[in-house]
Amino acid sequence: MATAYPITDHYYDVVVVGAGGAGLRATFGMAEKGLKTACITKVFPTRSHTVAAQGGISAALGNMGEDDWRYHMYDTVKGSDWLGDQDAIEYMCREAIPAIIELEHYGVPFSRTAEGKIYQRAFGGMTTRYGEGRAYRTCAAADRTGHAILHTLYQQSLKHQAEFFVEYFALDLIMDDEGVCRGVLAWNLDDGTIHRFRAHQTVLATGGYGRAYFSCTSAHTSTGDGGGMALRAGLPLQDMEFVQFHPTGVYGAGCLITEGVRGEGGYLTNAKGERFMERYAPSAKDLASRDVVSRSMTIEIREGRGVGEHADHIHLHLEHLDPAIIHERLPGIAETAKIFAGVDVTKEPIPVLPTVHYNMGGIPTNYKAEVVAPHGDDPDRVVPGLMAIGEAACVSVHGANRLGSNSLLDLVVFGRAAAIRAAEIVTPGAPHKDLPASSVDHALERLDRHRNAKGEVRVAHLRLEMQKVMQNNCAVFRTGEVLEEGVELMRKAWEKRPFIGVSDRSLIWNSDLVEALELDNLMYQAVATITSAANRQESRGAHAREDFPERDDETWMKHTVVWVKPDGDVALDYRPVHMNTLTNEVQAFPPKARVY
Ligand SMILES: Cc1cc2nc3c(=O)[nH]c(=O)nc-3n(C[C@H](O)[C@H](O)[C@H](O)COP(=O)(O)OP(=O)(O)OC[C@H]3O[C@@H](n4cnc5c(N)ncnc54)[C@H](O)[C@@H]3O)c2cc1C
Repeated sequence: MATAYPITDHYYDVVVVGAGGAGLRATFGMAEKGLKTACITKVFPTRSHTVAAQGGISAALGNMGEDDWRYHMYDTVKGSDWLGDQDAIEYMCREAIPAIIELEHYGVPFSRTAEGKIYQRAFGGMTTRYGEGRAYRTCAAADRTGHAILHTLYQQSLKHQAEFFVEYFALDLIMDDEGVCRGVLAWNLDDGTIHRFRAHQTVLATGGYGRAYFSCTSAHTSTGDGGGMALRAGLPLQDMEFVQFHPTGVYGAGCLITEGVRGEGGYLTNAKGERFMERYAPSAKDLASRDVVSRSMTIEIREGRGVGEHADHIHLHLEHLDPAIIHERLPGIAETAKIFAGVDVTKEPIPVLPTVHYNMGGIPTNYKAEVVAPHGDDPDRVVPGLMAIGEAACVSVHGANRLGSNSLLDLVVFGRAAAIRAAEIVTPGAPHKDLPASSVDHALERLDRHRNAKGEVRVAHLRLEMQKVMQNNCAVFRTGEVLEEGVELMRKAWEKRPFIGVSDRSLIWNSDLVEALELDNLMYQAVATITSAANRQESRGAHAREDFPERDDETWMKHTVVWVKPDGDVALDYRPVHMNTLTNEVQAFPPKARVY
């Protein structure tokens, strides 16, 4: 097989796959520490989905009122519905403060307070004094925070002379017989050549898999390629049943209206004009965590109080806000609402609907960004040579539900942690062990099989079939019956994979083939998600089972780990939640009942 596709070899100390916020933070951090670093990305770095992040990045700076990283930690543990690992959450919330100052020094153009400090807005689930007050914790660059951060991180990467391989599509990990990751195989989309990247640490920073669903806020490129590669390498994914629905996707179009709108004073109403969140979350109201708001909206619609001709969506109001505030703090939202809903936000409400937004699940890691997989008695065994960060990973800081503005934070904190860890364990310039020529056979065989696929099933049709199953059978509310039906429907979709057809056989800008490979990655994760959801018989965070409405800490306060085999069979196991903290500056937060 290797001879049919000539291979160009590259040798690096570290290779990062992905150039979103997580990938870029790791890339320049590693280059800065003297490691020979390559970054491979299928899209130009500043086109990664991070560029679309709107609302902001959390850190208890206390610029707009009192705050403390311990309050941030408590909120994150509570937001995770006690599924997050408390050591990792402590690390993230403590490191948030220096991480934001560092971003400011790198040049991120944050919005400012009158005194010139970084502007911070309120966001869902963010409180002071362990739930008593409202925190202003989310640092924002208007409503284009991701754009500002991503461009700054890319500039830093260029400054530190990391080497970029842009529009290279990573195909599969290179694993040796001892289960050590030795690098990654990639396809240069521009000239059709195949490249083997050897590395002492390979970092997956490939983003989420939102495109497994029909309606989502994520980019078309969010196809979970890293998760697909991990599963094909025989590694498990974790907590895949936890999929975040953002309350405010534009009705019909799916694109996001940031939670920052509600942080600035926006609110939701039903067909009666009632501010219904007051009933569901009397204290946090419209700024309850996303799982709570999405469920409340779904109940309103189900019970016939949706707005519009078909009573099938909800209104988001900002017309009561001062137009000057909208212009200064939410200009992108005003534009999005105009283009995608034809609405002038200073005069009328935006039609919105809960839309898939974020994957809490992913490749399990410890807080040093090293990939872990349970092995024998050790639930936390490190997979040598492999790291994962960003939305592709499950550290797990978000547990069963992520708080808004904690993802951008996760990217920079754990991107940096990966660089710190790599500098500890990789010696610059250390030689690479030989690899058998067959080490990339499985990856090339998969590429070749898809490239020459002559079947009747169109990639776009099979993708739609998968997306509909996920949208209908693995939604905001779930029951065993509907999930089991979904597992069966996904199995039927899986069985069509050998019969797909790809019409373009070339290797140069073959988007037909790219989409087939991306669909393959998505399908692995769709199967993992729906099977894990059918298995978890409780309600926790974003996973709301109508047949098991209570959270069951006794049986289910544990992470699901899931393997998907090449034949589509699934194996499930569990890892304990880390209830310990890293330092004695804070005690672990014991589980509390859910009150909003
Ligand atoms: C519309 C929107 C708004 C959001 N707003 C916020 C917010 O305000 N605050 C917040 O905290 N979070 C927000 N989020 C969530 C957050 O932005 C994402 O979780 C985060 O940006 C993901 O970053 P990442 O670095 O993990 O991956 P991404 O930014 O998705 O980047 C993935 C990278 O991997 C590369 N890649 C993928 N597959 C391959 C492959 N096969 N080969 C080579 N390269 C590959 C891509 O080229 C890309 O560079 C938002 C998300 C969305 C969708």
